[in-house]
Amino acid sequence: MKDRVIAIDGPAASGKSTIANAIAERLHIPYINTGGMYRAVAWHVAKHGVNADNINEDALREMLASLTLDYVADNSGKYEIRVNGEFPGEQLRTPEITALSSPLSAIPAVRTYLLERQREFAKLGLIVMEGRDIGTVIFPNARYKFFLTASPEERARRRLCQNGEVVDGATLESVAKEIAQRDLQDSSRPVAPLKQAADAIPIDSTGLEISQVVDRILDRIRSHYSTYRVSYGDTDQMGVVYYANYLEFFERSRTEMLRDAELPYRKLEELGYYLPVSEVNCKYFSSARYDDLLTFKSWVSEIGNVRMVIATEIYCGEKRLVRGLVTLACVNTKGRPCRIPEVLANACPIISL
Ligand code: C5P
Repeated sequence: MKDRVIAIDGPAASGKSTIANAIAERLHIPYINTGGMYRAVAWHVAKHGVNADNINEDALREMLASLTLDYVADNSGKYEIRVNGEFPGEQLRTPEITALSSPLSAIPAVRTYLLERQREFAKLGLIVMEGRDIGTVIFPNARYKFFLTASPEERARRRLCQNGEVVDGATLESVAKEIAQRDLQDSSRPVAPLKQAADAIPIDSTGLEISQVVDRILDRIRSHYSTYRVSYGDTDQMGVVYYANYLEFFERSRTEMLRDAELPYRKLEELGYYLPVSEVNCKYFSSARYDDLLTFKSWVSEIGNVRMVIATEIYCGEKRLVRGLVTLACVNTKGRPCRIPEVLANACPIISL
């Protein structure tokens, strides 16, 4: 079973936090910024006089023993890091803490300490976790993995625009140099170096708007893709797909989506749940024809008490042909409506329309 984690890794200032936060908001799930944890360790040990030149692993181990890190959800459900009962907030983003966090993160004792804490978040259900090694070390079995990059110039420009994160008088060149140095340290350390997981989807955000990157990621999370070549039997005499056949296409895509989520329909039946279709809404944008290669994308767009809505979009190349919204009722072995079981509610992220 894959871990229910959306891992977003990438180098410094590649836009990970902004994107990860936006994804979490769209999916209504927690967002964990692991860079903040390394910064929190830096903040804690800096108070004990540690700086980049006097790091000592044994002394650090003792300091870690007296460190309590936790995340507290605020009223809006956003998680904020708490260090020994205090909320350091923006103090974690000063240039000094940024500079200290990188060499500290190369120390095995620090990584081991944080690895355990980071893995504990899995119990929150589906989460977005952002960092350097989430897809490679923390959750190598994450369900979704993305590796975000951007050109060095663009990253320096973005960082320069973030007040408080650069030293006074910083220039594009000096920021680019600081980022390059941090990337080098992060990618050349022996433990958990910054690197793209073999199965991560790379996204270069250079020149893209935030919303474009978010859409690209959601499009991949929008769990399921399958393709189907329209056969002669699915068309009328003019070679156009029968509208009625779309119902079958929706069914096929939905079944594959659940199978991809490691919850094949058969398993639901074994657990005593059935999902009859109670309503279908279909919007047609364009027709499909004989021999077209269609791509289906399905995702869960709503979960209620006893019903769920699955959206399916059918594309031919880039062209969207149809969107279907299929409402499924959940019934038990006696045919009575029953609550959507947790195993089903947890299987796929909910992406509202
Ligand atoms: O992402 P952010 O810039 O806040 O991370 C601060 C530092 O923490 C990074 O430069 C990196 O050295 C370290 N880090 C890490 N592994 C992570 C997240 C951050 O080594 N998963």
